[in-house]
Amino acid sequence: MRPASSAPPAPATTTVGIVGGGPAGLLLARLLHRSGIDCVVLESRDRAYVEQRQRAGILEQGTADTLRACGAGERLDREGIVHHGIRLRFDRRSHRIDFPPLTGGRSVLVYAQTEVVKDLIALQLAEGPPLVFGARALAVERADTERPVIRYAHQGREHALTCDYVVGCDGFHGIVRDAVPAAARRTYERGYPYSWLGVLADVPPSCDELVYAHSERGFALFSMRSPTISRLYLQVPNGTDPADWPDERIWDELDARSATDGPWTLARGPITAKSVLPMRSVVTEPMRYGRVLLAGDAAHIVPPTGAKGLNLAASDVTELAHAFAHLKETGSTELLDGWSDTCLRRVWRAEQFSYSMTTTLHTDPGQSAFDTRLQLAQLDRIASSGHAAAELAENYTGLPFARAAVPTSAR
Ligand SMILES: Cc1cc2nc3c(=O)[nH]c(=O)nc-3n(C[C@H](O)[C@H](O)[C@H](O)COP(=O)(O)OP(=O)(O)OC[C@H]3O[C@@H](n4cnc5c(N)ncnc54)[C@H](O)[C@@H]3O)c2cc1C
Repeated sequence: MRPASSAPPAPATTTVGIVGGGPAGLLLARLLHRSGIDCVVLESRDRAYVEQRQRAGILEQGTADTLRACGAGERLDREGIVHHGIRLRFDRRSHRIDFPPLTGGRSVLVYAQTEVVKDLIALQLAEGPPLVFGARALAVERADTERPVIRYAHQGREHALTCDYVVGCDGFHGIVRDAVPAAARRTYERGYPYSWLGVLADVPPSCDELVYAHSERGFALFSMRSPTISRLYLQVPNGTDPADWPDERIWDELDARSATDGPWTLARGPITAKSVLPMRSVVTEPMRYGRVLLAGDAAHIVPPTGAKGLNLAASDVTELAHAFAHLKETGSTELLDGWSDTCLRRVWRAEQFSYSMTTTLHTDPGQSAFDTRLQLAQLDRIASSGHAAAELAENYTGLPFARAAVPTSAR
């Protein structure tokens, strides 16, 4: 494998210029490479930073299938943990949602985003296409022409990459979106009056599945990264400073919010990382302007309650790889022309699910006792109706991708 430090500088031209080496950009590059379509990935951060950035951890079956089909499934199948259900905890009771019978056999996989990113980076550095770390895109120029240009800074110098297409996989704070004139795009947005305090702890998870806890003290989520590392979240007010949450306070609050009349012991251990994650729902439409396309968090974000962000990024780029492969094989832009609409149907479905999970489980600071009773009625409905449980299970395990996991040419 070629070490990152000796990665060659990007060529001056390419077919698909990809800004951002997160899950969306890396997976797209992998799929294009397997279809014989040349591309370059520009990533502003260094390799270590990108590989250590703590974020999502739940892979839908469609995401895992895409990773497997493009050759990135070996470690995922060895180390990923299949989960067939989740637990809802409310009103001091626990209810398990059993996915397979509700979804025709679907489940999810616990495999951290950090590991997905490590696997894709290792493959790309070994096999190509070019992946340039420390390359910060400054602007996309000539977006309305057939040869858009990415201007970027690398090792103190400015460079230009001329492309047939530019794909912005540069996340919520990226710059590619700015290449689309304000009059040509519309942003739909909703904020939430709370954030998540997320911690990593060196302690085995207290439950073998994720526990989503509704409590009048606020929401809590008990998740995991591996059999020995717990990932835990507490709803906190916006603007919370993690320094105001010493470890004991975090464990006490997790305990209080997960109280149940059934058996439950929360295992405590050393907390190794703490961060605060704001909650937002944002969609930019359309996801394409001429030859500039936006995928993943660059186009849309969801509150993490439904575990959809990483999975939406994967479905966007899987669909996009199909469209580029179709263009290469047939000369037709038909799939590319319909790509934004195809993705947005799935995106809005995931936005609705994430919103519904979030507002059902969290306590709004202005919430009345009536609002709380409505939340509990909804949770009770999920616990007692097969139809309501199936609706949750189908959305959680992920609606099927529009097409098969990867283009045939990329297998
Ligand atoms: C702080 C945080 C915590 C999260 N936690 C969870 C969670 O717990 N559970 C969950 O389900 N989801 C979570 N998510 C959502 C999920 O991680 C994202 O949906 C997913 O990372 C989207 O992948 P992406 O490739 O589209 O964007 P990103 O992962 O954001 O990748 C974008 C990449 O572009 C690079 N970049 C940005 N600007 C430039 C530039 N100008 N030039 C070159 N490169 C650039 C960035 O360095 C980054 O590597 C979290 C997201 C964030 C931001």
